Amino acid sequence: MMFDYLIVGCGFAGSVIAERMASQCNKKVLIIDKRNHIGGNTYDYYNEQGVLVHKYGPHIFHTNSREVFTYLSRFTDWRPYEHEVLASVDGQLVPIPINLNTINQLYGLNLSVDEMAAFLGTQSEKVAPILTSEDVVINSVGRVLYEKFFKGYTKKQWNLDPSELDASVTARVPTRLNKDNRYFTDTYQAMPLHGYTRLFDTLLSHPNIHVMLNTDYEEVKDSIPHQQTIYTGPIDRFFGYCYGRLPYRSIDFRFETFDMESYQSKGTVNFPMSQLYTRITEFKKLTGQHHPKTTIVYEYPVEQGDPYYPVPRKENQEMYNKYCQLAAALPDVHFTGRLGTYKYYNMDQVIAQSLTLFKKLKAAMVPPSAN
Ligand code: FAD
Ligand code: UDP
Repeated sequence: MMFDYLIVGCGFAGSVIAERMASQCNKKVLIIDKRNHIGGNTYDYYNEQGVLVHKYGPHIFHTNSREVFTYLSRFTDWRPYEHEVLASVDGQLVPIPINLNTINQLYGLNLSVDEMAAFLGTQSEKVAPILTSEDVVINSVGRVLYEKFFKGYTKKQWNLDPSELDASVTARVPTRLNKDNRYFTDTYQAMPLHGYTRLFDTLLSHPNIHVMLNTDYEEVKDSIPHQQTIYTGPIDRFFGYCYGRLPYRSIDFRFETFDMESYQSKGTVNFPMSQLYTRITEFKKLTGQHHPKTTIVYEYPVEQGDPYYPVPRKENQEMYNKYCQLAAALPDVHFTGRLGTYKYYNMDQVIAQSLTLFKKLKAAMVPPSAN
């Protein structure tokens, strides 16, 4: 059997293209993953105690894109959920992103919005141009708060000083003058009602889609007849690391289950000043599951392991650009996703990227002849 598309990776990047090609263009698709499950890094499952957990760390869905939310809503119902995070700082648990509540609680104050603006004015140091992850934070809240909330966390997470990382990394966590404790402010914020894996079951259920797990692309690329390839694995591996290895940061996820209904008051607690882990997340807060026990996950950032985080900095972008040039010379191979395009993307950005790639490929298809 000749497949129209061989798709490498069963995460959102690959699965969205698979679904679109199968359902909109009647293409025959084979989607493979070297892991033993679908869903990529969003894979969730019920652990031995019956608690729904995310194998590769907590995944909270949020987007401003109506198109992405409408698209995904075909494959799942939703549980409305707005994530909140506390940071363990100076012996207190205070809201992060830094907002009016954070400052009032941390310093025992009762500032108004205007007074908060004035307070930050006394703290912040104007930096221009803003290039690094240190610049972003110093420019908005100053060095004292930077050291409490960002410096240690970033060092743990990336094994780099914030001054060595692109501004985009810490810019993900903006400062607010109001009392909004939510981690995200996107228009659409929700969790798939029955989890991500169930969502992927539906997404990949089209009869034109064949799923093959426990299958590494390198092992089958020459034996499976196919016209075109969509590749969502690490782009440097595809090209045999010919320009060197793109750095990725990995995480050691450690799970613990307690014989109690609730472990912590909010979904996630961050540890910017202490501990070897960056954060603790309690899954039931995200999923809304009712269960007499509860499971948490600690995230220990590590050098070796699955490639979870592309590392946004100039020299890595330059190496990626070289791989991109090789990719451009392969008209029948298309790269998408967090690893395929070496971008620190959230789920919704990956879905949008694959929907865009689909539209481009569809537009380039030769229409069937009139006779
Ligand atoms: P992946 O999900 O990584 O899928 C790629 C797949 O390709 C993998 O399953 C891999 O096994 C497979 N593969 C790779 N190479 C090969 C090969 N040679 N042969 C066969 N298969 C191969 N985003 C959010 O929006 N909200 C969050 O709260 C959030 N939290 C996150 C927390 C953590 C700890 C991490 C690491 C990421 C988080 N993300 C979050 C980001 C989210 O995981 C990604 O945006 C999204 O899952 C990327 O989808 P993808 O399909 O590009 O990649
Ligand atoms: N960050 C930080 N302190 C925090 C939260 C985040 O220093 O309490 C920085 C850190 O560099 C982190 C980045 O901001 O890697 C992005 O945080 P986010 O929570 O978006 O990371 P992710 O969920 O992608 O791991």
